[in-house]
Amino acid sequence: MEDTKALNPKIILLGPPGAGKGTIAEMLKNEYGAVHLSTGDMLREEVKNDTPMGREALGYMNSGALVPDELVISILESRITGEGREKGFVLDGFPRTIRQAGALEEILSKAGAAPDFVLNLQAPEDVIIQRLSGRLQCADCSRIYHVMNMPPKEKGVCDECGGKLFQRSDDKEETVKARLKTYREQTAPLIGFYRDRGVLKDVKADAGPAETFEEVRRQI
Ligand code: AMP
Repeated sequence: MEDTKALNPKIILLGPPGAGKGTIAEMLKNEYGAVHLSTGDMLREEVKNDTPMGREALGYMNSGALVPDELVISILESRITGEGREKGFVLDGFPRTIRQAGALEEILSKAGAAPDFVLNLQAPEDVIIQRLSGRLQCADCSRIYHVMNMPPKEKGVCDECGGKLFQRSDDKEETVKARLKTYREQTAPLIGFYRDRGVLKDVKADAGPAETFEEVRRQI
């Protein structure tokens, strides 16, 4: 553990929607001080602020498709080289295509860096659907809750910052099915990509956050 802390870990979280990437990323951030970089949260922020990028991304997001590579690579590049990166980072939801993984290698190699671990969070489809259908997120700090599995202390209010909790529009059933299909077709090939590079660790993520995090600690 101490070694990992000293290394300021550079971690990529892979896995289908609902595998727990956002929750585990926050736990890693709290444990190691690493920066949590979620391209989904970045895009939702652009949508909320009604920027040109947000307007372009929204249609793809609402249909369960991926936002075009160029757009998401540019947003990620601007953040990954930002303040705090020396503490390490946890990438949540990026890369999602082989092209993005190639772009990430280039971005990191310019900084003389490479990912230390790629954690492949694995959970069966019925667990994923149950998680997504009850998922809530804070509109201000993006923290994730679940109506049954991880409820906030006060209904509709974030424990952390007092922000309002909302249900993501892409967490409805038809969109979840489309997102899972997108994952299988475009993102799952990254498992082989990173296995070939010797950095992939499989993590069983079908239980609660505490159990999954224990498994993560064992792996890193
Ligand atoms: P997430 O919060 O990671 O589930 O992302 C929500 C949505 O944002 C996805 O369904 C995609 O439409 C879009 N998105 C997030 N990250 C990426 C990415 N790396 N590449 C393409 N689209 C993305």
